[in-house]
Amino acid sequence: MHVSHLADAEALAGLGSTATGLDSTTAALRLAEYGPNRVEDMASAPLWQRLLQEFGHFFALILWLAAALAFFAEWRVPGEGMWQLGVAIVLVILINGAFSFWQEYRAEQALAALRQLLPLQVKVLRDGVLRTLPAEALVPGDLIELEEGDQVPADCRLIEARGVRVNLSTLTGEAQAQSRNAGSDQPGHVLDASNLLFAGTALVAGACRAIVFATGMRTEFGRIAHLTQTAGETGSPLQREIGRLSRLVALFALTLGTVFFGIGMLLGLPFWSNLMFAIGIIVANVPEGLLPTVTLSLAMATQRMARRNALVRHLPAVETLGSTTVICSDKTGTLTQNRMQVRQIFAGGRLLAATEAGAAGLLRLYTGAHYGHQLKLVVQEGQPRWLGEPMEIALLEFSAAAPIPSAQVLDEIPFTGERRRMSVIVSHDAADWLYCKGAPESVLPLCATWESSAGLQQLDTATRQQITAAQEAMAAQGLRVLAFAWRRVDDAADREECNLVFSGLIGLADPPRPEVPAAIARCHSAGIRVIMVTGDHPRTATAIAREIGLIRGEAPVVILGDALRLMTPAQLQIALDAPEILFARISAEQKMLVVEALKRKGEIVAVTGDGVNDAPALKAAHIGIAMGQSGTDVAKSAADLILLDDNFASIVNAVEEGRAVFENIRKFLTYILTSNIPELLPYLGFVLLDIPLPLTIIQILAVDLGTDMLPALALGAERPQHALMRQPPRARDERLLSWPLLARAYLWLGPLQAAASLAVFFTVLSVSGWHYGDALGRLEPLYLQATSACFAAIVIAQMVNVFLCRHPQQPVWHFSLGSNPLLLAGLLFELGLLLAIIYLPIGQALFATAPFAAGFWLMMLALALLIGALEEARKAWLRHRSALRHHP
Ligand code: ATP
Repeated sequence: MHVSHLADAEALAGLGSTATGLDSTTAALRLAEYGPNRVEDMASAPLWQRLLQEFGHFFALILWLAAALAFFAEWRVPGEGMWQLGVAIVLVILINGAFSFWQEYRAEQALAALRQLLPLQVKVLRDGVLRTLPAEALVPGDLIELEEGDQVPADCRLIEARGVRVNLSTLTGEAQAQSRNAGSDQPGHVLDASNLLFAGTALVAGACRAIVFATGMRTEFGRIAHLTQTAGETGSPLQREIGRLSRLVALFALTLGTVFFGIGMLLGLPFWSNLMFAIGIIVANVPEGLLPTVTLSLAMATQRMARRNALVRHLPAVETLGSTTVICSDKTGTLTQNRMQVRQIFAGGRLLAATEAGAAGLLRLYTGAHYGHQLKLVVQEGQPRWLGEPMEIALLEFSAAAPIPSAQVLDEIPFTGERRRMSVIVSHDAADWLYCKGAPESVLPLCATWESSAGLQQLDTATRQQITAAQEAMAAQGLRVLAFAWRRVDDAADREECNLVFSGLIGLADPPRPEVPAAIARCHSAGIRVIMVTGDHPRTATAIAREIGLIRGEAPVVILGDALRLMTPAQLQIALDAPEILFARISAEQKMLVVEALKRKGEIVAVTGDGVNDAPALKAAHIGIAMGQSGTDVAKSAADLILLDDNFASIVNAVEEGRAVFENIRKFLTYILTSNIPELLPYLGFVLLDIPLPLTIIQILAVDLGTDMLPALALGAERPQHALMRQPPRARDERLLSWPLLARAYLWLGPLQAAASLAVFFTVLSVSGWHYGDALGRLEPLYLQATSACFAAIVIAQMVNVFLCRHPQQPVWHFSLGSNPLLLAGLLFELGLLLAIIYLPIGQALFATAPFAAGFWLMMLALALLIGALEEARKAWLRHRSALRHHP
């Protein structure tokens, strides 16, 4: 019989388990037999298919076209060296494609490894004790406990359930949550069984104990895993920008090639050699390294972010994060430490410190803590430890000073963000009682009497005002205030929260995290707004906001949840124009309204969240951020970024890394675009001024696809610079390829390099007695030496240029070489390749080079350094000018 049809006890017995769970020996044996509880990842497409795709994107297609033209030319007019060009281009496509593929594969592996850093944890009863274990360790027969927000880790059958509702959308596509209960069920479709929970679904409400009956690939989810593998990730702003840029540059290359071909034809160059030049120009101008650099840049950023406690779940999210303009943050746990401590109490009409003798005895606080599933004593590393809400733990520790009646909990009316209170019904001293606690605004209206020092008294308006004043006094110090109330109930079915006796208030301190004020200051200087969106009291929220520097003005706008509900979208948008604003007494659903309004204002919004109800806001924001420690599984799976330490400061660090990605791609572009000019201008001289061709097509390819490659890639892996967080977020429509960037590469650095390399070329020629107008054969030693020197001059200039490209304004000496080891490796590779091309016989044969006199190396170096000095002078001038603009 199926486990769903059995009675609870039979289900336990049928899976060889008991009411206290499995013992560890049996569990170990079963783990060996059934294997780890893991759904194997099926790759979206086979690897070979993805490798093939690398050879079919836009750049590759242009290169294929060029290669085809070269082979066609060879077939029509053999012996012009066209086949070498064709082979070279095909090699370029293959190497570049393989490299891109390798980068992507590695990035994917790294991302998968990062996900492993955050294993799903489950509470399991083993040997009669409740332990937290990774979900992979589950075996059939394990008894597990789940609560609201937990991901179901394996297929299991409910044994005890309280208000359990599940979301089966991952299995059935049905978004409506359904309730589930213990007890046997009638035969029917297994997914509809009222007592089963399935792996991959989530508990959206309630709490339960359940027995595992299927793990890993044997779960329903495992069976359909190959059908539901992640759909394609949507394009980030960066991906769209790269797409645009690729088309633009490719078009530019094609146009340039065609124009030069036209010029050549007009000037009467032989058709086939003219075609060869045109192909060369196209190939030279396609930025082959762009795609792998983008991947590398993103992947390196995810690695650095992980080291700074921020786990990225999708690669494109890295860069979206970099353009964030607003961060909406929770208070408790993100801005504060979530280490609660009772500080003050208000009881019997008096406000007193929690440390005063007998303080705990003044209040009747039957906290949720005493109720079984709220707090748990678990054994971790051999030590008993309370696990659960820090606030409940604080209350428990505080009340431990007073004797707690031994009691039995009969029922609970759970806490929700809307109600802001919770109640338990317990029986002690031969009677049943309802104990309620929550936000004072929520609890006080339910009270009719209060416990004064002289016994129960009517709760009149004056007393209510006194209580509210006490609450505000506590809140003004940044304390979170809870009200406590109770009443005697006739039976457990009488669960109405009314006619309560007000017992008192408790003020809990939750100090801000020490790193937070500095992180907020960094956000301010980086032009990022931080908006606190909290469920707490407005006074508490304002006090904390002031403490961490989030609010500095006299009159911040504070919007309460109730007011928010009545606002029209336009009103909310206008309210958001206020320079300092915070939202208090907000529920998760209302958080969504704030996010939507900010998005409508054109902001790039990051929002934090941890509960089940936060999931829609996390999804709606550009960047959803879930808490790694306190967050529910549901929130984590809706998020783009997970904070391992729940710390606001980590968000700011992640934003910095995200910003670096965009900057790095720009550095890369400046670098590779620069060398296009010294490759093009010599050719122009060749056709227009009738000089010998200073740089051959093969040599152009050697620069673009050989020596330039690794240093350019290294620029994509640069670490963020401090200045990054001192400038405003980049505008939404800011292009990767901006005019200043193009001008710097094409009109300044490029022409300087062209001048230097041509100077070297003509010096080599003229010291050997060559004069303008002298004919020079394609294979003459002097010609080979001169082109080799021209080629070497470009490479040497690029070796200096890589340092210049580290920043468009800051001088080279601001950056240590050690901060980017890849750069050093890239330079060594560049030098090695250059020497091999000039000095090794194979290099000479492939690239038509010949060694030149050693003195020319010095000349190249001097010219390269001169370019460096000129560029530094330009940067200094720019800095001077912008300083003048800021402090005239
Ligand atoms: P944030 O949204 O910034 O994390 P928060 O944790 O204070 O803030 P909620 O969890 O929505 O937000 O809590 C809102 C209010 O509900 C609290 O200020 C408190 O008064 C009350 N409250 C919170 N947790 C409990 C609880 N377990 N029992 C009773 N009342 C609670």
